[in-house]
Amino acid sequence: MLKTSQEMSHRTPLPKVCIALGLPTASELCEHARRELEGGERFFEFRLDYLERPETGVEAISRFLGEHPDTTILATCRRHQNQGRFNGSIEQQLKILEAAVAAGAKGVDVEIESAESAPSILDPLRGQTFLLISYHNFTSTPPLEALLRRMTRIPADAYKIVTTPRKPSDNYRVLSLPRAHPRVSMVVLAMGEMGFSTRVLSPAFGGLYTYAAPHAAEGTAAGQVSARQLRHCYRVEKFSRTARIYGVIADPVRHSISPAVHNRAFQARRIDAVYLPFLVHPNQLKDFFLMAEKLPVTGFSVTIPHKQRIIRYLDIVDPLARRIGAVNTVWRKGGKWRGANTDVPGVTVPLSKYLRLPKSSVLLVGNGGAARSAAFALTDAGAKVSIVGRNVDRVRALAKNCGAEPLLLKQAETQNFDAIVHATSVGMYPHSNECFFNGRIPGDVVFDMVYNPLETVLIQRASAQGKTVIPGLQMFLEQAAHQFELWMGESAPRPVMERAALDALAPRT
Ligand code: NAP
Repeated sequence: MLKTSQEMSHRTPLPKVCIALGLPTASELCEHARRELEGGERFFEFRLDYLERPETGVEAISRFLGEHPDTTILATCRRHQNQGRFNGSIEQQLKILEAAVAAGAKGVDVEIESAESAPSILDPLRGQTFLLISYHNFTSTPPLEALLRRMTRIPADAYKIVTTPRKPSDNYRVLSLPRAHPRVSMVVLAMGEMGFSTRVLSPAFGGLYTYAAPHAAEGTAAGQVSARQLRHCYRVEKFSRTARIYGVIADPVRHSISPAVHNRAFQARRIDAVYLPFLVHPNQLKDFFLMAEKLPVTGFSVTIPHKQRIIRYLDIVDPLARRIGAVNTVWRKGGKWRGANTDVPGVTVPLSKYLRLPKSSVLLVGNGGAARSAAFALTDAGAKVSIVGRNVDRVRALAKNCGAEPLLLKQAETQNFDAIVHATSVGMYPHSNECFFNGRIPGDVVFDMVYNPLETVLIQRASAQGKTVIPGLQMFLEQAAHQFELWMGESAPRPVMERAALDALAPRT
């Protein structure tokens, strides 16, 4: 006798990560599934609507399950009217899904629009398979309670809600739905770069499972994450429901290596926490705090373009960070948001290994956010600081603010400094063959803040000229280690963090 779908879903819970596979031919579909299988994955969504001939997917399911009976396949054949690629009628769609179930698919995903077309249309599937009713919204996140009421009018094993967040707090609305309805089985996700955190957090917030892209597609679309990243970087199956949440806010945020570095540090210290990239647009800081208080977020790194504006949302700001006018580290303690600037030790600690800062002469290049932190950090430490940059007025203003001397490049080039701190984006990926200095580099120690690439042209030229060099990764690791220490109250696992940063910055093969 056939088991009911309820029995099947209760007895064999679904794996936490489902790989969505959409390929043009059945052989490519099976080939990609096999590759994921070799990587340890066991749960696949076969997008039959992506196949040039969707009916060939039925045979593919049967063949694949014959070879790999321990895998779970969910079949989807979404109609083009509902953002899928299937061009047939609802009846034809359901015929294909019924055949997929007969071929062994454990579940089917039927979009709400098809399911609502007639009350009895899903009857042949009910009791035969795990029936998932899905809703997709590619433009916004509508009121979710009303949506869930609409969806649960159709009896099913689970409901999938996938929306597009327009602001950070939309993610919280999506994530909080399963906890508010513990008796309803749900899969919830928000799409795109802004929704990334939901892909990691949804299982911990009561979602049945989350979706990942195939490894081959890693990084091809904003918000996409591979199962390997979900498991190894974000440890989606390991952190508990009460894990602390940390992250980085930035715009853009996708390039950040901080998630790789901090998650590896948490892992090394067995800390039940996860660190996520949060895309926050310049006018969305207030909304981010709404989400941060509710999720809750315990602490976060701050980078371009929020380092200055974040200060107005904080309750307590470290005095030096306030004077600099920039915060890169935030955490919540005793109900208050606190801020500090760990770029300061990021500059002074590596430099102090090579020279005594008080009274040393330092040429600072640049007048942006990082230069500003360095200017205050160095003058505070007693160094005699001179500043150059391409915008003379901004250089003068910064120099005046922190008690440094503004210089023109041609003046600086005739002198020699104990150290040079380069704080512009010149030489940074993808413009990696650029360098601020063309001839002699007028300093004994050359510190380049740029860390991508790991060895910049400036560092190469300085080494060739016999200078002592400090690559930007040292600053990155120092500021990250101080963040860890502020958040955790214990010393940071620096070698582990360095390894993670090197892995994250290694060119992809
Ligand atoms: P930012 O606020 O955007 O400032 C960029 C600076 O670069 C400005 O002074 C800008 O001059 C200057 N600049 C840009 N293109 C230039 C060019 N072609 N010629 C001369 N000057 C140019 O950025 P930031 O936060 O200060 O970051 C600056 C660099 O430091 C970036 O590469 C960043 O990755 C790096 N950084 C590294 C760490 C670390 O941990 N290692 C930490 C922070 C920053 P204008 O004002 O004239 O536009």
